[in-house]
Amino acid sequence: MKIINPATEEIIKEINEDDTASVLTKYKLLTEGQKKWQTVSLGERANRLKNFSESLQSTIEPLAAVLTAEVGKPLQQSRNEINGACARVQWLTAHAEKYLADETMVLEKGLVEKIKYEPLGVIANISAWNYPYLVGVNVFVPALLAGNAVMYKPSEYATLTGLEIERILKKAGIPDEVFQVAVGGKEVGEILLNTSFDGYFFTGSYKTGKYIYEKVASKMVPCQCELGGKDPLYVADDIADVKAVAAGTADGAFYNNGQSCCAVERIYVHQKIYDQYVEEFVKELKSWKQGSPTEAGVYFGPLTRQDQGRVLQHQVEEAVRGGAKILSGGKPIAGKGYYFEPTVLVNVNNQMAIMRDESFGPVIGIMKVKDDDEAIRLMQDTEYGLTASVYSSDQQRAENILQQINSGTGYWNCCDRVSAAVPWSGRKHSGFGSTLSHAGLRAFAKPKAYHLRG
Ligand code: NAD
Repeated sequence: MKIINPATEEIIKEINEDDTASVLTKYKLLTEGQKKWQTVSLGERANRLKNFSESLQSTIEPLAAVLTAEVGKPLQQSRNEINGACARVQWLTAHAEKYLADETMVLEKGLVEKIKYEPLGVIANISAWNYPYLVGVNVFVPALLAGNAVMYKPSEYATLTGLEIERILKKAGIPDEVFQVAVGGKEVGEILLNTSFDGYFFTGSYKTGKYIYEKVASKMVPCQCELGGKDPLYVADDIADVKAVAAGTADGAFYNNGQSCCAVERIYVHQKIYDQYVEEFVKELKSWKQGSPTEAGVYFGPLTRQDQGRVLQHQVEEAVRGGAKILSGGKPIAGKGYYFEPTVLVNVNNQMAIMRDESFGPVIGIMKVKDDDEAIRLMQDTEYGLTASVYSSDQQRAENILQQINSGTGYWNCCDRVSAAVPWSGRKHSGFGSTLSHAGLRAFAKPKAYHLRG
């Protein structure tokens, strides 16, 4: 398997992929190891994962360099990601005891009723490349805390980071027989689907998620899918500072080159402030630098996947044929590296792919709306349901709108953010189940009821 730097198109490394035999060997090791791991106290498991977080922090520079080399995100954004992952590990380790320890529900004379949170067993974690640390820790950290063993399959576009994660977990005291990496792409994912894991935790596209969910269904084990989105954002007419909102929302659309599951993917703006908002939005965008991701001050690196450039180009061309106007960018950049011009389109509508299908890149459509009702109707007009955002000076107005949107997360005066303290979950084609929060810790455990008389 060739690991390619998306900024230079050079081969960074060639490594061997796993095959059926090696996956089965690793799986057998994990099956044995898990039995011992579940007997290690929760406090001790948490201590080892705290070591993991400390080790990530103390080696952040070389880790960020590896991440940038294989996914192309600017170095500072790689550092931000690793710091963010550490914060999540800290939250999860600090709260594991509270949500995974035995709970006594009834304590009467002669009767105790309690819940024990038992591990699922050996779980498969099939992961995405866009935030390999963040989406990785969302799954394997609570899984390990709950006493599971994990077979982690990083995306083929973030393999070196997956192997770094494995190395640091081992250094932190997570035994070999409790965490293993499966190296490879779709074919190796298929091998995991054909193996008898006790749970499947997937982060990736709707298309793959649907396939995995159907395939796992007959196994009758938990399957959780964190999938894509077409996240809408509405700017109401009562915002105090149009320039600041334009700048903040542009960052929500373009951070990590728009390659975030919760990136703002379509924007609806109240007609009263539309012109000023669009002008400030484009101005802000044009102030950001595009270039080599290792260069200081660069905001836009290359896309991670070459084929995504073609998806973006198709979306832009289709929109223009339908009457959209390009205010900035609009095409791939010739030369080495998978660069795409940061693109803003107006005169768009919800029939266009750019407003319906996940773009997962530095393109955005902005549409004028006449009032809140029209914004709600358009925001709801989607197969996805990951996040939705409203900017307004009036919290009640924003919450009234958000409660009418069928999404796992609602944002008021913010966007494109994740917190370890609250559930991260999708609805409709954005998936189901939760990571993070108490729900994301308990997703990796089977509650067992004990009725004890005596
Ligand atoms: P993808 O679906 O192409 O691949 C995800 C993983 O699935 C990879 O590890 C891949 O090797 C594996 N895979 C592909 N085909 C498979 C098969 N047939 N059987 C088993 N495994 C298979 O997605 P991607 O391009 O890696 O990630 C981008 C997508 O992930 C976007 O849609 C994004 O929105 C989504 N995402 C969602 C979240 C979330 O938390 N909701 C977070 C990050 C990314």
